Amino acid sequence: VSPPTPDARPHILAIANQKGGVGKTTTAINLATALAATRKRVLVIDLDPQGNASTGFGIPREARRQDTYRLLSGDLTLERAGLATEVPGLTVIPAGPDLAGAEVELVQADRREHRLADALTRGLPEAGVDYILIDCPPALGLLTINGLVAAHAVLIPLQCEFFALEGISQLTRTIERVKGRFNPALTLQGIVLTMFDKRNNLSETVAEDVRGYFGDKVYRTVIPRNVRVSEAPSHGKPVLLYDTGCAGSKAYIQLAGELLRQHKTLAA
Ligand code: ADP
Ligand code: MG
Repeated sequence: VSPPTPDARPHILAIANQKGGVGKTTTAINLATALAATRKRVLVIDLDPQGNASTGFGIPREARRQDTYRLLSGDLTLERAGLATEVPGLTVIPAGPDLAGAEVELVQADRREHRLADALTRGLPEAGVDYILIDCPPALGLLTINGLVAAHAVLIPLQCEFFALEGISQLTRTIERVKGRFNPALTLQGIVLTMFDKRNNLSETVAEDVRGYFGDKVYRTVIPRNVRVSEAPSHGKPVLLYDTGCAGSKAYIQLAGELLRQHKTLAA
């Protein structure tokens, strides 16, 4: 495998699940940070109007004008987009206040499913980038569709609870539809089990079911429920900067390792 070159195309991952509160944003922030810790250059695109990823990286509201909305509308090019974070090598395109209207405005737009894909093919950040992680909103509307059309692969965070598998069949149908109509090369990167509680039998049962159904598409790494992970965003920091040694940080480092190995295997 050759080292990344400045003009190599980045690998684009959409982090998606139409359920809210399953760990999409937490995974976007912390997987991105763990990848950057291995000296990958990473861009996080906050595609959720709630802007939780932007908050989690400590981006102040007044700094969110050069945002994903402008990227979608074509006002902002990727060369100039992206705010620095505390994490070396990691930049963020935040979600500003206008993004809330995008879901409705996109309905009337030209190439409405391709707005993000078009922006990502028009240019790249000047500093170069190896991974782009797109934090999708908790819905299967046009914003998430834009994320899926722009991506090479989807990463699905799944919370180990009773209805987890039901929600996922709706998501896989959407992925199939996007593949069929807009993005034939889209693949499933993997499923990551989040907020796992080993004292809870249901967590184990659901994890077994998911592994039984999706096999090796489910990462070995399981993200434990960990209070440090949930505290970190209120300090505007990834958990890896907030408490490097906690169980949540270790799990995200391990997940990044699995993702990087997946790529080595694919490239070999
Ligand atoms: P989503 O983006 O899918 O809506 P979030 O990543 O925002 O989900 O997570 C929902 C809530 O759960 C947040 O308050 C977050 O801090 C918390 N959370 C996520 N992952 C963990 C974890 N591993 N341990 C404890 N709390 C977590
Ligand atoms: Mg979120």
